[in-house]
Amino acid sequence: MNPRSSSRLHDVVVAGAGPVGLFLACELALAGVDVLVLERDERPEAPLNSAPLGLRGLSVATSEALDRRGLLDDLLDAVPRPAQAGHFAGIAIDAAKVDPSAWPWRAAGPALTTLASDIATLEAVLAARAFELGVVIRRGLGVTGLDERDDELAVHANDLAFRTRWLVGCDGGRSTVRKLAGFEFAGTEPEFTAYSALVDIADPAVLKPGRHATPRGFIMSQPGRIAIADFDGGAHDREQPVTRAHLQAVLRRVSGTEVRLTTLHQATTFTDRARLATTYRRGRVLLAGDAAHVHSALGGQGLNAGLGDAMNLGWKLAATVRGRAPDDLLDTYEAERRPVGQWLLDWSRAQVAIMRPGPQARAMEGIVRELAATRDGATWFAGQLWGVTLRHDLGGGHPMTGRSAPDLAFDDGRRLASWLREGRGVLVDLAGSQRLRQAAARWGERVRVVGGGVGKALGLAALLVRPDGVVAWASDDDAASTSELEGALTRWFGPAARATR
Ligand SMILES: Cc1cc2nc3c(=O)[nH]c(=O)nc-3n(C[C@H](O)[C@H](O)[C@H](O)COP(=O)(O)OP(=O)(O)OC[C@H]3O[C@@H](n4cnc5c(N)ncnc54)[C@H](O)[C@@H]3O)c2cc1C
Repeated sequence: MNPRSSSRLHDVVVAGAGPVGLFLACELALAGVDVLVLERDERPEAPLNSAPLGLRGLSVATSEALDRRGLLDDLLDAVPRPAQAGHFAGIAIDAAKVDPSAWPWRAAGPALTTLASDIATLEAVLAARAFELGVVIRRGLGVTGLDERDDELAVHANDLAFRTRWLVGCDGGRSTVRKLAGFEFAGTEPEFTAYSALVDIADPAVLKPGRHATPRGFIMSQPGRIAIADFDGGAHDREQPVTRAHLQAVLRRVSGTEVRLTTLHQATTFTDRARLATTYRRGRVLLAGDAAHVHSALGGQGLNAGLGDAMNLGWKLAATVRGRAPDDLLDTYEAERRPVGQWLLDWSRAQVAIMRPGPQARAMEGIVRELAATRDGATWFAGQLWGVTLRHDLGGGHPMTGRSAPDLAFDDGRRLASWLREGRGVLVDLAGSQRLRQAAARWGERVRVVGGGVGKALGLAALLVRPDGVVAWASDDDAASTSELEGALTRWFGPAARATR
């Protein structure tokens, strides 16, 4: 049967209404782009998306992104609990030892915090914003096919076909879009299957409490809950539901005890399979989130990276759709975000290396544990886990270029994050330079100019911030060069508007 084709041509179709697809849809709609989200599942509620098993650690980078779109308060209202500093292969990082002065380019603000939110709550906050922005989400329509015609695509879902100029696969680790569009997904095969489960145990004293290594892997046991890493080569078929009998067998094997599970309430599994798309764009199809990178859930980074992808891609794709983008703007998405994906895979592999059964891994784990317990070590790990040391290589000499912008506080009580909520670029003029202001004014509504009153902060005289909060250009010099600023404005926002006579 031929699919029924809609006559409407969308700017962008996003496949998947998970957190990454929803956030990307919000970014596109904020920039005035027509976006349709197609979601396979009929209903947003899934039991594993709720706490406790659906709980996810959100990094400082994610808090900042949400704050820059006015979503952080909504989330904080719903999940008022800061997360711990994080962990590396189960080695807890002590927040009290973290020294924020190691990141002098950060300005303290409400977003300088990590959070824990369950996926259901995060998705509800994002879906509400998407609704406010007029995004249409069609549920029960999983993408099943793709045709490319001239300069548009036909996206098939059930017996329907949707016309669109661009398609973004945010459809998770087993992405159909990735397969349909022929993306290569390269990486390494798993060494373990991990289980996280809510259980009743007949004889809990049989298991050692807390987290410990065994000859088969790792066990973490606390009242009502267990986590297991079974180094089985990733043999468990994740398509199969986890039964009580299966989980008990795994727990017995890994713990070396005859422990008895009386009830299995809920279980989730993952492996350390690590794969990364070799490119994030093929023609008019792009990937973001788990569709572009899969790895173990160790250290909780996948969601943070996916939301970072969405923030980075949204304004660039929107500018491309609207015909305003410099030629290579969209290519910078892959150039900036694929290295983050690569880091993510390696971060998770390094944890596997010290979790393997055997004396070598135990010895290495001991060394990492000692290092992580030092002030410098805790600060280094937190810098990675919280996403605060990330810097894109944008060229340019200033040490702040390519970093997340400091959340400067202005005399009128506003902060930089609040100026970014419109999704435009921002020139922060801290030295009261008429020359810079006049130069930026030629980019019209693409770049807002703010400043005044605050005086120099962090030694900065001026700062050009992209819509995603990344510093595009900065100067400490009160007499900063207008041509340097104009170069950065042209690079990220296209040519200035022509002067009208
Ligand atoms: C146990 C566990 C703990 C974790 N802890 C953390 C953590 O603490 N911090 C962290 O950052 N990350 C963590 N992660 C990873 C994080 O959950 C994922 O990286 C994140 O959910 C990925 O979001 P996504 O939107 O890319 O994909 P998904 O959440 O998988 O969403 C994809 C969406 O696409 C839909 N879909 C699928 N196929 C189609 C199709 N063909 N057409 C249309 N729609 C489709 C799906 O129904 C789904 O709604 C954890 C993961 C696990 C398993």
